Amino acid sequence: MTMKKKELIVTSALPYANGPLHFGHLLEHIQTDIWVRSQRILGNHCIYLCASDAHGTPIMMKAEEENIAPEKLVDKYMKAHKKTLEAFQVSHDCYYQTHSEENKKYSELIYNTALENGYIKKQNIKQLYDKDKKLFLADRYVQGNCPKCNAPDQYGDNCDVCGAKYEATELINPLSIFSKKPPVIKDSEHLFFSLTKLEAEIKKWIDESSLQESVINKLQEWFKDGLMDWDISRDAPYFGFKIPGFEDKFFYVWLDAPIGYIGTLEKFLKDSKNKASAKDLWSEDSRHEIYHFIGKDILNFHALFWPALLHAAEFKKTI
Ligand SMILES: [Zn+2]
Repeated sequence: MTMKKKELIVTSALPYANGPLHFGHLLEHIQTDIWVRSQRILGNHCIYLCASDAHGTPIMMKAEEENIAPEKLVDKYMKAHKKTLEAFQVSHDCYYQTHSEENKKYSELIYNTALENGYIKKQNIKQLYDKDKKLFLADRYVQGNCPKCNAPDQYGDNCDVCGAKYEATELINPLSIFSKKPPVIKDSEHLFFSLTKLEAEIKKWIDESSLQESVINKLQEWFKDGLMDWDISRDAPYFGFKIPGFEDKFFYVWLDAPIGYIGTLEKFLKDSKNKASAKDLWSEDSRHEIYHFIGKDILNFHALFWPALLHAAEFKKTI
């Protein structure tokens, strides 16, 4: 009896395009590559994809520091990443970047479908704002005393001394790391993805998945506290894709980064003159199996937000 060969789409986590690769990236890519090569030896068909993660405030800041456009910075590091991975003979079928036409198309499609299906809502939030720099401050761009233990020089998300987690607006005597001045609190309307509505769906996906037990245990911890809706927008200035229907709002980098897997698949299919679209291969009835190789630090993005987003946008959830 001959077994039907499998159709696999495999990805490694996307390296961030603000610096060269380090050993951690290489370890992950080589591990993925070993698995991909073993699948190919078994006769299964594997499309192995990766891309440089191009968006977000750190890219914007790094480009400013180097006095070049963010697009230039991203191109520079993408080429460097690609060269390093080729030198280690990592057998990608396509290595791309998330700042691409293909990714923009799928980010808008996925957002618009989630919106039509009632999974996007608006909510006002309070954020720290640096008036000199004219920038809303991400958690890592503000420092102050921990609201729990009063330790000095702590960032806006959690305390390195006592481990407390808090909102940046709770910091005592906060200072912007740019102007070194106290930021002001400013209101802004943000877009949220309704993760709470999909709690049962994600739980079901986890239960039916082939995830390792230790991973499932970690995921259960988030359910114990209850999931929260996810802030997917960032205010200008921001390097990313504009959100359809808004002039000054951009997709948060973690919204379009995993969609970059689909964008890269589209680029691969186009380059290889394949008539299928990435959506065809990533649809519910496709026989393609999708595998993401990731580090445990990005588990929540891949095992909570990502399947929820794929579900809301009527794409196939990864296995
Ligand atoms: Zn503390």
